[in-house]
Amino acid sequence: MRAEEIRLGKTRKSLFKDHVMSILPDGGNLNLCLTCGACASGCPASGIGDMDPRRFLRLAAMGADDEILSSDWAWWCTMCQRCIYACPMKIDIPQLIFNVRASRPREQRPKGIVASCDAALKHDTCSAMGVSEEDWRFVVEDVLDEVRAGQAGFEKLQAPVDKVGAELFLNQNSREPVTEPEEMVPLWKILNLAGADWTYGSKGWAAENYCMFMADDASWEHIIRTKVKAVEDLRCKAWLNTE
Ligand code: SF4
Ligand code: SF4
Repeated sequence: MRAEEIRLGKTRKSLFKDHVMSILPDGGNLNLCLTCGACASGCPASGIGDMDPRRFLRLAAMGADDEILSSDWAWWCTMCQRCIYACPMKIDIPQLIFNVRASRPREQRPKGIVASCDAALKHDTCSAMGVSEEDWRFVVEDVLDEVRAGQAGFEKLQAPVDKVGAELFLNQNSREPVTEPEEMVPLWKILNLAGADWTYGSKGWAAENYCMFMADDASWEHIIRTKVKAVEDLRCKAWLNTE
C-alpha cells in the first residue's frame, strides 16, 4: 500500500508546530508526515497513556495545543531519537517534545526531574544525587580498598581521580556511588585489564543531565560547560560518557 502524503497544519494555528518549523534547517519538514507509523513502532514511550510520537505530531500539526500541554506524555519521551532515525522524512519529533516541555511552567514540571536538575547545580560534580566532591572521593577510595583487600587478582586495581593527562575521562551515573557503589567495579576491572589510561574527575564526573530532560536550556548548558571544563582542566584526550 502506498502511503499518501498528508498536508498538515491547515486547520488551526499551532504554537508548537510553528516554533519547531522555524528552527528546522530544511524549512519545516513537519508538513511531510506520511502517517506511516515507523516512529511509533520503535518508540519506547508508545502506548503510554494512549499516545505515541505519530499521534503527538498530528495533534501539534492540527493545532491541538491545549491537548498537548495538558498531556503528561511528553515527559515519558526518553529523547532517544529513535523516531528520527526511523522516520523516512527525518521529522524531528524530540525537538517538538522539547519545546512542549519548555512551555510548561517550572512548578508544573515533574518534581523528580526538577529536583534532580536542582541537585546537579549544587556542586561542580554535576551529580543529580547531590554528591559532593569529598563524598565522591571517599566512596571511590573506600570501594577500591575493599576490592584490593578482598578480591584475589585485583590487589593492584586502579580507580584514579583527577589523574592529569589521562587518555580517558570517565563519567559515572551518580546513582551508583550512592545506592550501589559496588556496581562501579566491573567497569574499573575492564578498563584495568584492557590497560586503559583513564581517570574520573573530582568535578564534572556525573554522567546524567536532568536539566536537559527538564528542557531548561540555561541549566543544561551550565552542566555541560562544567563537565567540559573538568575534562580540559585534566588535559584528558577523550571524554567517555557511559549514559
Ligand atoms: S525520542 Fe521520544 S518520541 Fe522519539 S522514539 Fe525516543 S522516546 Fe519516542
Ligand atoms: S515516521 Fe515520520 S512520516 Fe512516519 S508517521 Fe512518524 S513522523 Fe510521520
